[in-house]
Amino acid sequence: MSAFRFDPIDLPPECEALRRDVRGFIADELGAGLWRPNSDFGSHRGAEFSRRLGARGWIGMTWPKRYGGGERSFLERYVVTEELLAAGAPVGSHWIADRQSGPLLLRFGTEAQRDEFLPGITRGEIFFSIGMSEPDSGSDLASIRTRAAPVDGGYEVSGAKIWTSYAHESHYAITLVRTGEAGADRHRGLTQLILDLKAPGVAIRPVVNLAGEYDFNEIALDRVFVPKDRLVGAEGDGWTQVTSELAFERSGPERFLSSHQVLRGLVARAGTDPEPQLAEALGRQAANLWTLRRMSLSVAGMLQAGETPNLEAALVKDFGNAYEREVPEMARLAMPGGRRGDRDDFELALAEATLHAPSWTLRGGTREILRGIIARGLGLR
Ligand SMILES: Cc1cc2nc3c(=O)[nH]c(=O)nc-3n(C[C@H](O)[C@H](O)[C@H](O)COP(=O)(O)OP(=O)(O)OC[C@H]3O[C@@H](n4cnc5c(N)ncnc54)[C@H](O)[C@@H]3O)c2cc1C
Repeated sequence: MSAFRFDPIDLPPECEALRRDVRGFIADELGAGLWRPNSDFGSHRGAEFSRRLGARGWIGMTWPKRYGGGERSFLERYVVTEELLAAGAPVGSHWIADRQSGPLLLRFGTEAQRDEFLPGITRGEIFFSIGMSEPDSGSDLASIRTRAAPVDGGYEVSGAKIWTSYAHESHYAITLVRTGEAGADRHRGLTQLILDLKAPGVAIRPVVNLAGEYDFNEIALDRVFVPKDRLVGAEGDGWTQVTSELAFERSGPERFLSSHQVLRGLVARAGTDPEPQLAEALGRQAANLWTLRRMSLSVAGMLQAGETPNLEAALVKDFGNAYEREVPEMARLAMPGGRRGDRDDFELALAEATLHAPSWTLRGGTREILRGIIARGLGLR
């Protein structure tokens, strides 16, 4: 029996009406010149855009209505996210909260936490970051050293986080800390806290990326007080909770659409009668894209069924990242019509994608780590 399950998913009819609505919304936004397309979900953002999306009910779509959600299916959410990403909409501000912080609070948070944070997330007003990596802990996340010591009414947190995307534009970060000794099981003693990024003792310093942009940060935490009611789930259970976030984090269309504007531009430049070599390369990438979409949709179907398909999600991310890195490389080599120098939309998208591409296989877990998970799933380690 295969270790992987990718059941084919047919989108229900309500998804097609929704798709038309999203396309109409995007056409209006583009018609009004509100943004320039860029499908790299991480770096393309706008708080105003998130609020407009929230007003449509397209953030927290699957969440209960009593928290501001829409009680819609994961497949409907999938249609909205893939349309937004394919169009290159600036989805970054609310992305983390919608994709994983909100679902984490729904699963492990208290009623008071859900009431406090979820409605604001669905309105596109509260943004979250991910506080996992540290200067000496990335892939080996269980080795983190940021410590939360118990004090009257909560915890005092000291340590450092790094690569924290857009902490300077977010309100909170779900932060992994050590509350107890690891002992024989190094995954014990880890805890998740909701960290207020404006709290006294939090110092957020910029890290400039390869493209010369300020997107992530180093965060120094110096005896930051975190009230007890900001503890997520059970103290010491942070590892199980963090790993449960990963199926949400790794399987979505953002893991293969980062360079989609390049593919669209290349198809437009290739015209209706491309050179056979280019036609073949485009055909191969279109087949890859379609296959990845089927796999990713299948994971959305499993999430809908309440499963935790971490293995399948790792496979989607690994294949997806390989594909999204290949597209700009192929476009650069093919460059139909030669470089025009006037930097049209295609050349701009290509330049941007080329600079961002190296990070795609790192963020959300490196390829080696994903392949380790896949190998374990296959019973090879
Ligand atoms: C654009 C971007 C945004 C990010 N945003 C965030 C964020 O918002 N929040 C956050 O917490 N983190 C974030 N990260 C950090 C990201 O999760 C880490 O970079 C990643 O997990 C790798 O950790 P590391 O950089 O410490 O590399 P290391 O873990 O030091 O790895 C270095 C190299 O060694 C390899 N390696 C490590 N261990 C093994 C092993 N056991 N077997 C085989 N090979 C191995 C890795 O694959 C990699 O090639 C972001 C990273 C990027 C690039």
